[in-house]
Amino acid sequence: MERVTKSTDELIEAMVRSSTTSRKELARCHDPPIKVGQTIITNRQAAAVAWSGGLIRSADGYGLSAHQQVPFVHGWVTDGTQLLSGANYIHATVATRSRAARGRPLASVRCDCCGWTETLEHVIQVCPRTGRPRIKRHDALMDKLLLKMENRG
Ligand SMILES: [Zn+2]
Repeated sequence: MERVTKSTDELIEAMVRSSTTSRKELARCHDPPIKVGQTIITNRQAAAVAWSGGLIRSADGYGLSAHQQVPFVHGWVTDGTQLLSGANYIHATVATRSRAARGRPLASVRCDCCGWTETLEHVIQVCPRTGRPRIKRHDALMDKLLLKMENRG
């Protein structure tokens, strides 16, 4: 919608000005303004930055601050190799104890496997419970690396 409203084409400008649907849509987007946290969202890029910033500031996402600099590390999620089972993925992303304890000061945040604070980072990178799939993922990446190196001679 924002791209349409910023168009320099006279025909599109006239359509936006005269369209009831456009006026309603603009009103819906700006009154009240869409917010993520305290940030007013004006376009998709602003939304992505706001959501990313919120995730990085959270207990579950603080380890992801440099993720955009290394996009290939996310390949294990989307490459179809299924190195992490669906159950482990859901366990890791949804039901950490630190997340479940928000707003519940008496709830335990300790991992029932090893006793560390159970965050997403802990489950994915540290906890012995996920050690086997983590080692399997590591070995699969090493195999891919070795294959690439062998192909290059
Ligand atoms: Zn643990």
